[in-house]
Amino acid sequence: MDEQAKTQGGEGDNMLEPADWHAFRGQMHDLLDRCLDRMERAEDHPWQAPPDGLQEAYAIGQGGDLVARLADEVMPYHSGNTHPQFWGWVQGSGLPSDLMAGLVGAAMNANVGGRHHGANAMEAAVIDWTRRRMGMGDAASGVLVTGTSQATVLCLQAARMRALPDLRAKGATAPMAVYAVDGVHNATRKAVELLGLGHEALRLIPTCDGVLDVQALRAAIDKDRAKGILPLAIVATAGSVDLGQFDDLNALADLAQTQGIWLHVDGAFGAWTRLAGDPWHSLTDGIGRADSIALDFHKWMYVGYDVGLALIADEADHRAAFAIRPPYLQGSKDGLSGGDRWFCDFGIDLSRGNRALKVWCALEMFGEEAFAAAITRNCEQAALLGALVEAQGMALVAPIVSNICVFTARPDLSEQDQSSLNRQIATTL
Ligand SMILES: *Cc1c(COP(=O)(O)O)cnc(C)c1O
Repeated sequence: MDEQAKTQGGEGDNMLEPADWHAFRGQMHDLLDRCLDRMERAEDHPWQAPPDGLQEAYAIGQGGDLVARLADEVMPYHSGNTHPQFWGWVQGSGLPSDLMAGLVGAAMNANVGGRHHGANAMEAAVIDWTRRRMGMGDAASGVLVTGTSQATVLCLQAARMRALPDLRAKGATAPMAVYAVDGVHNATRKAVELLGLGHEALRLIPTCDGVLDVQALRAAIDKDRAKGILPLAIVATAGSVDLGQFDDLNALADLAQTQGIWLHVDGAFGAWTRLAGDPWHSLTDGIGRADSIALDFHKWMYVGYDVGLALIADEADHRAAFAIRPPYLQGSKDGLSGGDRWFCDFGIDLSRGNRALKVWCALEMFGEEAFAAAITRNCEQAALLGALVEAQGMALVAPIVSNICVFTARPDLSEQDQSSLNRQIATTL
């Protein structure tokens, strides 16, 4: 009873409602102000190491003043990426519009697996906007997922379905290979493993001028065909996570087309150079010719975690890989069980949250042009950083292609000393 006395829930039949809606309203207004304060002055709240014993502090059953606890015990220990000078890894910052989406999304609690309600239409609208920006035809379909890792699994499964129409009934019956640039993000390796191919089936093709060598790729495909191995998919990288490099998407699309191989693009962040000005825009020329694209909104589109997209050029391929409905999920013509696009037919999840809402809020609040300008500016900033690095007698380690500048502070030191100094600088930053 003591434990319960500390909670702010009601009693009897109303134990899962606030004891006092009026008081709860006041608390929520207070909480909203605290969230807005944090976002407006993110620069005053850099990352800090979580204190020891945080798990004990969070132990379930303490109740108390939840607004104060959220403000004092929870929000301070964020992951740093809200600070305007956070430059680590490839992480998005989130947006003030996420707060709108979070509130409205919680009030609606949409399950976007299917049925007849607005969130399905919003997800379709977000996917359609993205499809057009990527230059994919209107036969395409997509599904919002946690991120590019999950999207890669879905896309490669669709590729497998097209190659082996009996796949769903009989499982994989032929040895297959997937091709990607040496240095491809490990999301592709994980996907290949999850699909049961084993990562030895992932052929890592050497680079030529930093991007996948198409001649070497052709040779690897010929070698596999000679051994009776089915070339399943070429995974092109549009924006490598370490150097920001882009494979030649048109050259890979040409090869995939003549060879009848599925072309998948890992465009986690780099796909968004489609919104950038030149010369960066042309880095993704040809992306719309892919059979599938995996990309994230939570990186270079700044939208809060997590939201990514699996985009597949032919809806029939997409549906063939995932659609299945037991009798209890049969749709109807009318009522809540209606609706003509059930997203459970396009991925693994049956129950799904409303990820589209935060993307929609972001685009509606700031406008597409704001994102285009930010993405272009990020590329300009990387180029500026490169100029400063060279002016200071430091050294670039790779050419700056897009939004990533890789440099070493003291090129005169031994490789080992450079590594340890560079690591120290990054940690300090
Ligand atoms: C981040 C990233 C991934 C993985 O995406 P998640 O959204 O983190 O799952 C894959 N490929 C590239 C190039 C990435 O930058």
